[in-house]
Amino acid sequence: MLPLIIISLMLLVLDREKTLENKTVYSENKEISYPFFGIEEIDDYITSYLNEYITTDEEVLIDYDCIKENNLYYLTFYNYLFSGNKIKNNIDSYTINTKYNSITKIAPVSYEYDAIQNKMVDKEKKKMIALTFDDGPNYNTNKVLDVLEKYNVPATFFVLGSKIKDNEHILKRMSSSGMEIGNHTYSHLLLTKYKEDKIKEEIDSTSNLIFEVTGKYPTLLRPSYGSVNSKIKKTADMPIIIWDIDTLDWKYHNSKRISKRVLSKAGDGDIVLMHDIYSATANALNIIIPELQNRGYTFVTVSELFYYKEVNLEKGRVYGYAK
Ligand code: ZN
Repeated sequence: MLPLIIISLMLLVLDREKTLENKTVYSENKEISYPFFGIEEIDDYITSYLNEYITTDEEVLIDYDCIKENNLYYLTFYNYLFSGNKIKNNIDSYTINTKYNSITKIAPVSYEYDAIQNKMVDKEKKKMIALTFDDGPNYNTNKVLDVLEKYNVPATFFVLGSKIKDNEHILKRMSSSGMEIGNHTYSHLLLTKYKEDKIKEEIDSTSNLIFEVTGKYPTLLRPSYGSVNSKIKKTADMPIIIWDIDTLDWKYHNSKRISKRVLSKAGDGDIVLMHDIYSATANALNIIIPELQNRGYTFVTVSELFYYKEVNLEKGRVYGYAK
């Protein structure tokens, strides 16, 4: 994510008329391809800088930001060194004066952080659980998001295509606060009763709407009612995610009962089914989240759960937990 942000920033600050030239710096076993500026002194400098990293054995990604002001170029390299679950970001900054042909190096800065969402230091020892919310978005979804954001906890929302119109801002909020958005079909039909073209339409129209609002296609499908048959498996171009803990929030609307049920069943790798359209569910989260955190659980999205459990999700296959 960070390198992408930096690349975008870099493109913003670049002189518009300047044409970037793609060049590759390479040695026998490694190459770094990058746009260059077409300004000889600076390109040479960048090339020699990149060459230093070509000769190392480490896994490294580099990009840079170059801002021009009259004769001065402010050039900053961002080196991302990957080792295990850690990323080390070394930042080297230079001021290049093309008039006097001089280069000044500014004291380097270095940051270290966890590769994914800054939280999975020792994944083997962490217990993980994925909260999932179906049937939204609606007016109540914000209440659920308030609680998740308060505890800085990610979750997965399986949204209905038919509910997206006029609730686009809620999807955007989910997306910007690190929630995962999955596909729960367009109109919540019992899909097992329908033919493949209707199933496909229900799935595709929802994926397209999610993309229109968030700029990202969903990668997970939860068919309405969790119903699955061979037609649905064949038609789904995504893994099918069900659950192994059903909170029955739709039935009882009782936050105490919902939280008790989750807390009595919760285990490592579980996927919890809830619905963001109920107030009782939002209230239950205020009990569930701190208690499970006390028990040593980390909350993750469904995709993160399978990633950390090293399960490769396959299209058209059904998953109810990651153990
Ligand atoms: Zn549903």
